[in-house]
Amino acid sequence: MSDQQVFEASPESKSKAKQLRIFAMLAWIIAIGAQIYAIIKLISNETMVWLIVAIVVILILAVTGSYLWKKANRLDPASEKDKVKFFIQNQLGAIMGVLAFLPLVILIFTNKDLDGKTKGIAGSIAVVAMLVAGISGVDFNPPSVEKYTKEINEQNATLKDLNVNSDNVYWTSAGNKYHIFEDCYHIDGKTNVTNGSVKLSFEQRGISELCKTCKSKAEKTSSITE
Ligand SMILES: [Zn+2]
Repeated sequence: MSDQQVFEASPESKSKAKQLRIFAMLAWIIAIGAQIYAIIKLISNETMVWLIVAIVVILILAVTGSYLWKKANRLDPASEKDKVKFFIQNQLGAIMGVLAFLPLVILIFTNKDLDGKTKGIAGSIAVVAMLVAGISGVDFNPPSVEKYTKEINEQNATLKDLNVNSDNVYWTSAGNKYHIFEDCYHIDGKTNVTNGSVKLSFEQRGISELCKTCKSKAEKTSSITE
């Protein structure tokens, strides 16, 4: 098992990621639509309350879009080789988060018909919403094909040290750890337990961590046999 394994997203992961990306795009499109509506209809002293409601709605949509987008990237990550594509794919949530508010923010502060109170309240809420949407869209630890490949090979090496066969580990469709033992209490009796190689656990779920319970059990077992 010394040969290097290269990560490649499974067809199921790719189609799930595609679905998540479509929903993310929809959320962002509706957010931009809501922003356009707010710009046309709601920038006035009389409709300030509705303007604030619109800002909250846009924020929820922008954050939801980013959340789905990041989830998709974990299933089907970009390669670091293409730096521009890598940056845009991973930070699109931040870009969309800012775009969902920036025109509105500018138009609130430059509108001559708004009084100072409306500008102060609605404007500052819009700025805060823009910051929240932008920052929550940033992927501070973006996944990549290269990172996953490195992780898989590190995990394989760890399992080899423990005298464990890395082609037969277990994981559930909900967890983010994989297990060495089928009867580990974290997964015992659970439905949706899948088994396969560590590489497959990454390709299907983006799983990166060995369960600590399984690890210490394997450490004990391997020290007895040595
Ligand atoms: Zn376990």
